[in-house]
Amino acid sequence: MSVQGGPPPFTRGDLRSASRGIVDHRLARRHLINEFRRGRLRQDQVCDAHPELIRAATNVGTESRSTCPICQEAKLRLVTYVFGSRLPSHGRCVSTAKEMAALNQRAEDLTAYVVEACVSCKWHHLLRILPVGGRRTRMASGG
Ligand SMILES: [Zn+2]
Repeated sequence: MSVQGGPPPFTRGDLRSASRGIVDHRLARRHLINEFRRGRLRQDQVCDAHPELIRAATNVGTESRSTCPICQEAKLRLVTYVFGSRLPSHGRCVSTAKEMAALNQRAEDLTAYVVEACVSCKWHHLLRILPVGGRRTRMASGG
């Protein structure tokens, strides 16, 4: 499988549900996992994370408390990508709270995508979409 120079893990276009406000994808996740456990989806259909996503999860991902629902061999890792007008089209991978805080100070509207990934079996799922930055009124911004 030659994937070098391939598409990014996802693009904004793939995630049309993105809107201002918090979107929760837990229901979709549960559905996928149920389908897998019932044998309606094969592992290679749900564990197809892009190599870049796995690399990001390995290098800068935050370990979550949840064990991978598919292979149950590794802890899931969370990776956050931020998309916005002045950011790369494949998103900026944000690994620290400081970096996220800086992005949150920006005037333009940005969108953060929190993805969970298993570096063992390559399961991945979009967990949350969060608004970042923008000229919103924020409490105690300390700017
Ligand atoms: Zn796994």
